[in-house]
Formats: sequence, structure tokens, C-alpha cells
Amino acid sequence: MWDKILNVSELRHLTGCSRAELVEFFGEIGEPRFRADQVFRGLHDRRLINFDEMTDLPKSLREKLKENATSSVLRVESKYTSIDGTRRFLMRTADGNPVETVFIPTESRDTICFSSQSGCALKCDFCLTAKLGFLRNMTAGEIIEQIIIVLNDVYGIGNETPHGTNLVAMGEGEPFLNFDNLIRALDIMSDENGLNIVPGRVTVSTAGIVPKIYDFAALERRPNLAISLSSANDELRNKLMPINKRWPIDELLAAAKAFEKTLKRGERFTFEYVLLGGVNDSDEQAEELADLLEKHRLRKAKINLIPHNPAEQLDYRPSTPEQVKRFKQVLESRGVSAYIRTPRGRDIYAACGQLAAMDDSKSDAFRRFREVVSTEETAKGVTLA
Ligand code: SF4
Repeated sequence: MWDKILNVSELRHLTGCSRAELVEFFGEIGEPRFRADQVFRGLHDRRLINFDEMTDLPKSLREKLKENATSSVLRVESKYTSIDGTRRFLMRTADGNPVETVFIPTESRDTICFSSQSGCALKCDFCLTAKLGFLRNMTAGEIIEQIIIVLNDVYGIGNETPHGTNLVAMGEGEPFLNFDNLIRALDIMSDENGLNIVPGRVTVSTAGIVPKIYDFAALERRPNLAISLSSANDELRNKLMPINKRWPIDELLAAAKAFEKTLKRGERFTFEYVLLGGVNDSDEQAEELADLLEKHRLRKAKINLIPHNPAEQLDYRPSTPEQVKRFKQVLESRGVSAYIRTPRGRDIYAACGQLAAMDDSKSDAFRRFREVVSTEETAKGVTLA
């Protein structure tokens, strides 16, 4: 089947079509509207990956669909399961680009961290994905298929998700540099006849593409916003996040203020701050951050403190737990809400800033985590690629 999918560029990927577009497509191939609705539910509500599984369709229609369209363009290449239950999926697009998606379970909610691009152009100094460079944008269908693959893997094809699903666009790539496909994918996923993931359960994280923050603020049904800041000082941020040279901190925070003005009572947005030991984690730097928020009168912002996730290829070390706590205390003493994000899936390179299509089958650690998966999958009769 995969050989056929490799010719996918000639076929329409129906997973990336809205219901209206499916109706149009079915009209083009001489089929009635209700078939489009059936297929939309098959793809997004029942989460069927193959047309052959849509047994409520006549066989002749399934054959016709296979000739004219595809429902699957991603292949799971590897899957790793962390000791904390986090799962990292390394997938490939039909044209061979890596895509990573991470499932993060907690007792009360599940979160899927998905990729909006393969690789990333932004060169943040503390991020492994930057080392991949930019490969290409994900299509809307590829973004959605990542979610479907993960949900089916965790819960079984089409089964209910016990806590609903939260999505974060924090995998590979800068989501606002693939704005149209991202918003299109989120719109399709919010359809109540499909995945029904409402915008309130979605968070989009940007490194600071300022014009797109204004566009995002203007959307009618809008997900939550997170802005990756990591320094309140232009000189340091230029080094850590070179996008700062294009849109410096004051311009970024002016856009954040415009976004804040659109929030309803009780709604908030987030600044993410990756804490790098001895680089941006001093008490003075916490004060500087509080000063900055005060200067821009950002009253609905909260700070997510993310202890850096180390990697051999990066020249940074995490802050000590004591310094992370102190940084938080300084912010709180200035009236700023701050939270410490517990790292998840560090052992399988699934944590924040660690995604780099890592598939080191020679490493003992990676072999161990992959073997666990292989045993599970074999028991379920599924073969990993
Ligand atoms: S932190 Fe995000 S925006 Fe920056 S290089 Fe990594 S993936 Fe790209």
C-alpha cells in the first residue's frame, strides 16, 4: 500500500479537506453529497486510515476513491515510550521528510504536541530542531493525520478518548510560518462531526512572528496563544532566538498587548521562558522580566518556566532546581503568575526543544525504549516500519 501512497502528490488527500470541500470533490467524481458526509465521519470521527475500512460505503465507491484520492500520507517509522508514559512518534511524509509528534498523558488530561513544519528555519540556539534546518511546511492533512495516528495508537481505532484531547503546536517548526495550513487544520479538527477538538483546547506557540500575532488575534474562533520569550533583554535574546533581530522585544510585546486586548474576562495567555543555567536564570533577570511585563502593562500574561532539556549537541545546561524555584519566587513577589513545567519524555528525546528526528538505533537507551514498543506492538499484531 505504501508504494501507492508514494505517488500521493497526484492524489487528493481527503483528510485535509473540510466538509464543504469534500462535498465539492464528491460532486466532481459524480457522487452524492451524503457520501461526502459519510467519508468525513469515517476519516475524522471513526478515525479510519484506509478507505477499505469504510464498509458502510459500496465496494465500487471505495475502489473509485482509491483511484482518485488517498486518506493516508504519513508512515510511522519509529515509536518510543518513556518511563513516564510519554510517547514520541517519528513519522515520515510520503516524500521522505521527518515529522515528530508527542503524546503526553497525565491523570486528568492528554496532550498531543504536533509539528507544523518538518524541521525549522528559526535557529533558536537552545533547540535541537534548529539543527535540522527547514525542510518543508506540513499540509493541513498531514497536521491532522498526526493527531489521528496518535489517538488510534493510544486508544485504538475510533475509540473514545477518556479526557478529550488537548493539542499544542509546539513540535517541529514555527507554526506562524505555516499559518494558513495550521488554521485550516485546526478548523477541520474542530468540526463536531469529526474530531471535535474545540479551539479552547488548542495552544499555538510562536517564537515571535509579530505580524501573525495580529492576524491570530483577529480570528473569530481562536486557540490559545503562547509566546516563547526566554529573555527580557534584546542583546541576549538576539543570541538565543535570532528571530529577535527581525522583531525585537518591544515590538513583540506590543503585539502581545494587542492580543491581550481581545481576551475575554478570565482568559489568559502565556509567555514561555526556557531556563538555561547561568545564562538567563538569575534573580536580576527575573526582575528584568517582571519590569518588562509592567512596562507593557501585560496583566493577563502568565509565565511558563521550562527547565532546559539537555542534549549533547547543545552548549547549555539546565538551571538547578533551586534556581528555578527562586526565579519563580522573584516573579511571584512582583505579582506575576509563574508556573514550572515538569519535563516529560526527556529519556526518549521527546521533551521541549529536543525534537530532531532522533532515531539512533545504535544507542543502548534508544534500543531499550524501542524494544519495549516492539514487544507491545507485536502482541497487538502490529508491525512497526
Ligand atoms: S524553538 Fe521552535 S521556533 Fe525555535 S528553532 Fe526550535 S522549533 Fe524552531
